[in-house]
Amino acid sequence: MAETIYTVPVSEAFEADCECPVCELRRRFENETVDYFAGPSLMEPDTRIVTNDTGFCSRHFGMLFTSQANKLGLGLTLDTYMQEQISRIKKYAGGVRLDLSEDSEDGAEQAPAKKGLFKKKAAAPSGAKNLAGYIRKHECECAVCKKLDYTMDRYIDIIFHMYRGDKNFREKFRNTKGFCLPHTALLIETSGKKLSGRAADEFCETVSALLIKNLERIEKEVDWFTKKFDYRNVDKDWGNSRDALQRGIQKMTGNIDVTK
Ligand SMILES: [Zn+2]
Ligand SMILES: [Zn+2]
Repeated sequence: MAETIYTVPVSEAFEADCECPVCELRRRFENETVDYFAGPSLMEPDTRIVTNDTGFCSRHFGMLFTSQANKLGLGLTLDTYMQEQISRIKKYAGGVRLDLSEDSEDGAEQAPAKKGLFKKKAAAPSGAKNLAGYIRKHECECAVCKKLDYTMDRYIDIIFHMYRGDKNFREKFRNTKGFCLPHTALLIETSGKKLSGRAADEFCETVSALLIKNLERIEKEVDWFTKKFDYRNVDKDWGNSRDALQRGIQKMTGNIDVTK
């Protein structure tokens, strides 16, 4: 099978010693994407248009900040992003009164009606509701997540494409330690669209068997991890259990951050 920009990372992730090659693909591409937005691209007007519009989610702003690659660049990106968002927030907030001085005057708390505050603020509730609606929608947007979601969809396509047409890849697939719970479900759910009847059945059986076999393996490792706390086991070998908690958490949730 011809190698493409997508097949090489897929092959590499399936060769990595990990609890889920799809998590591994995601982790690698996420780091690359964060580096991309922390790098020279942030000075490009086209990139700035995107980041001013969507910004980054909490996780990815956090990753951009801790990558430390370019604090000035991150500052410039944050600055124009905030400028754009302030102008939108003002638009959505509409009738919200910016001058709050009257509220702090004497008696305002006790007798707001007498001072006519309700009347003056009439436009605020609907404006604030629109604002909350905008913030909720905006929370789901992120320049890194958007690229990541798009590319992960391509990677899933490629996994099925390679599974269909490449015997060596099928072998590699069967020799992995399986997938985390969320990615197991994703692969099973997608298989019907990507493989024909019998091949899809065989694929699902393989993925399910890999899951059960490897869940049992990690559970034993977690179990031994807990038994190592018993004084009678202090001198016994850790085996593979030193990082069993991290791998158990990844397997059950797809959270790969704990394995770093
Ligand atoms: Zn996974
Ligand atoms: Zn994000």
